[in-house]
Amino acid sequence: MGIPLLNLPVVQNWDCQATGTCCKEYRIKLTEEEHRRLAAQGWDADRDLDGHQPFLPAGWPRRGFFLNRRADGSCVFLGPEGRCRIHERFGYETKPLSCRMFPFVLLPGGAVWRVSVRFACPSAAANKGRSLPEHIADLTRMGEQLAERENLQLQPDGALTRPPRLDARQRIAWPDLLYLVDHILALLRNRADTLERRWRKCLALADLLGKTRLDQLPPDALQDTLSILTTAADVDAPRDPHHVAIPTMLGRLIFRLATSLYTRKDHGPNRGLASHGRFALLSGALRFARGVGPVPRMHRLLPEATFEQAEEPRGPLDRSAEEVLERYYAIKVGSLQFCGPGSFGLGFWEGLEALAVTMPLLLWVIRLFRDASQEEAAVRALTIIDDHFGFNPLLATWRMRLGFQTLARRGELSRLIAWYSR
Ligand code: SF4
Repeated sequence: MGIPLLNLPVVQNWDCQATGTCCKEYRIKLTEEEHRRLAAQGWDADRDLDGHQPFLPAGWPRRGFFLNRRADGSCVFLGPEGRCRIHERFGYETKPLSCRMFPFVLLPGGAVWRVSVRFACPSAAANKGRSLPEHIADLTRMGEQLAERENLQLQPDGALTRPPRLDARQRIAWPDLLYLVDHILALLRNRADTLERRWRKCLALADLLGKTRLDQLPPDALQDTLSILTTAADVDAPRDPHHVAIPTMLGRLIFRLATSLYTRKDHGPNRGLASHGRFALLSGALRFARGVGPVPRMHRLLPEATFEQAEEPRGPLDRSAEEVLERYYAIKVGSLQFCGPGSFGLGFWEGLEALAVTMPLLLWVIRLFRDASQEEAAVRALTIIDDHFGFNPLLATWRMRLGFQTLARRGELSRLIAWYSR
């Protein structure tokens, strides 16, 4: 089935730089077909895999199998030279699809696959390697395999899936939804404003649009509605972040709890406090709640710093750091990775607000890297934060969703963005 790919709205490069991120940090869930195929390859635990079984049962209530991992979190098929044994012995095409796709993510959007990238991969965050057009042939082939695996076919209306809903009450047709996406994308890429103000404008617009029944607009009224409400959002969002009210105690508390989750790394070589056991992890979360003293190193890459230092202004982001973050947000919004199947089935507005939460989080982490340039700090912050966005199921629990909604509905999110951009 030939489902075309929509190119990314920005220049994004990638090639595997053998950082080992994917093979040492993630659990790979196998489909039934992949499990059968790998089992038929005849891997012997003692002879081939240093005494480890190749598969791990997923356990109740999930079914199926994961690739087994060693005690350090790395995949049992990862050889001592950092090469995949499946690839070496049976060829690239026989590896699980998730391994071959990383760090790319394909999402159904209208009649095409929309391409996203996981910035948890250091090469993707740093924009190293070949440009996306050079990966198109591979991605198209993987898109076909993914469509088959997910049983996706083009529907009579020409789309692969139903459009994600806007909220609990509303759903609009793909053409209108994609028009909305392009409008938000244009706002986020408008360099007449700083990136932090672009986000505050988007949030103001999302607030206005969230109160509007877009599904009941007369035909062709969406464009005018967006134009009018964007002008209103522009007036609502002060130009100078110093003119935005400071976050309240409640906003700061929810933000720090989100930070403790987003900066956590429980597996792989960059494992942080989790390597000292669950009590250390719990104590780290409590220290985040208090927000004083040293920042718990939930992730090994987090530098030594204190909460007080993270509150010290570091000045606005320079152009190069803004470009790194702009590339990130353009890809996440353009690919629809913030809502629907790309993000735990969240509605459009809720997903957009959840994505906006990553902006103050990134600014906060960037402040911790005091010895790095802002650009380098932005790249490092992205590898930490994007490890979770759209993938950590804890972010989809009702507690976290309520927390993010509280930040957005009370205006705390815009305050936090302005605060950490100073
Ligand atoms: S199967 Fe190969 S590519 Fe996939 S995680 Fe294991 S070592 Fe890495």
